[in-house]
Amino acid sequence: MELLVTGGTGLVGNALQKVCPEAIYVSSKDYDLMKEAEVKAMFEKYKPANVIHLAARVGGIIDNMNHPAQFIYQNILMNTYLVHYANKYKVKKLIGLISNCAYPDKVEKYPMVENQLHDGPPTVTNFSYAYSKRTLEVQIKAYRSQYECNYFSVIPCNLYGPHDKFDENKSHFLVALIRKIYNAKKNKRRIIRLLGTGKPLRQYLYSEDLAEILLLLLEKYDGEGPVNIASKENLSIAQIAKIALKATKSSNLELVFDESSPDGQYRKDLCNDRLFNIIDNFRFTSLSDGIKRTYEWFKEKKEKYG
Ligand code: NAP
Repeated sequence: MELLVTGGTGLVGNALQKVCPEAIYVSSKDYDLMKEAEVKAMFEKYKPANVIHLAARVGGIIDNMNHPAQFIYQNILMNTYLVHYANKYKVKKLIGLISNCAYPDKVEKYPMVENQLHDGPPTVTNFSYAYSKRTLEVQIKAYRSQYECNYFSVIPCNLYGPHDKFDENKSHFLVALIRKIYNAKKNKRRIIRLLGTGKPLRQYLYSEDLAEILLLLLEKYDGEGPVNIASKENLSIAQIAKIALKATKSSNLELVFDESSPDGQYRKDLCNDRLFNIIDNFRFTSLSDGIKRTYEWFKEKKEKYG
């Protein structure tokens, strides 16, 4: 078997299924990666040449603040067994997914480059998720160093797309906004309330772009260092919100920022020089197109299933 993808039912897993249907996709229903015997059984069954390890406990700010113990417990367990048995079963290439949230809360110079990953504490609101992701980077490096296996990690910026988490307690800003736009239109309301000042800067990547880039890296990259994955676009929350209104033909709606609620990290943009030294060129989906497709997916799902 050529490629096994863990976390195959999530946001990125669904995007990968679309661009690479021939891979094997597994979720927690198939193998609970927190259980050593199940991880071993998965490798025993598939004996994959390559693995893209997407599975993780992932969530928005509220989920992260309410469940820090679960985030670190689940991710550390999954990653420990996954990397260990990948090596035991002689997986040739493994890609592990870190996140831009794992970077330090503040650094001296932006955009952030890969060797700044461990340069200071992450933001407090997702410290346990962040440390579990930094640890995955260390785990991969450790196995690579001792066993000379071709494993590396990637660090995507914020993601969005069809199959994202739209429920109130788990969603991040952009999908929460898409949900609010849908609800406002449906209930004929004119105002959309957003938390914070709208000033923080964010890089967003459409999930199918990430899927395509992961496959390119699987083919082309053999280096040790993690690879940031982001476009150069780094827009304020207010700018993104305006693009979303236009993309969903909702320019009649008014955005109101609740400046009394916290803003979160001001910026966490990633430098993509290493990525473009490896893959030369890539046409990113525009934010407007990506939002339009995500909105249509969400609308269709709501209208079918409520
Ligand atoms: P997601 O939508 O939350 O999907 C998580 C996947 O992990 C699901 O397929 C889930 O399976 C699986 N999973 C969770 N617990 C498991 C367990 N105990 N055993 C086996 N599988 C388990 O995540 P995503 O947004 O696609 O993220 C994919 C990767 O990208 C993650 O490593 C994440 O940290 C990273 N990342 C995400 C973002 C983002 O903005 N979303 C940004 C940067 C990096 P079930 O469906 O069966 O629960």
